[in-house]
Amino acid sequence: MASLNMQGPYVLVPDKIDEVVPAKTPGNYAIGYVADSDFIVRYVGRASTDLNRELKGMVYRLSDCLFFKFSMAKSSKEAFKKECINYHDFGGNTQLKNTGHPVRRNGEEDWKCPCCDV
Ligand SMILES: [Zn+2]
Repeated sequence: MASLNMQGPYVLVPDKIDEVVPAKTPGNYAIGYVADSDFIVRYVGRASTDLNRELKGMVYRLSDCLFFKFSMAKSSKEAFKKECINYHDFGGNTQLKNTGHPVRRNGEEDWKCPCCDV
């Protein structure tokens, strides 16, 4: 079974984010819900520079996503690669609420997805 390799789950509220997620680090997150003590992934994402701030932007964004998991990354490029792997491992936009493949931002145009040719 696919693994996120992230810590959590934690309740997706600002106080908990401040308690467990360092500020100003790149990283990855998954949000979802807990059923029978399993964390069900509904959306995966990344932060290029500030995982703490990015996660706060996801609070109450998706109605059934009240929990999150996260991991820190050494660089924004590492975060992009992990987001791609998480996205493909958990079914892409047919199973996740993500609307499409992880995107490359300015300056990231030559980064390759480790899983596909997108
Ligand atoms: Zn891909």
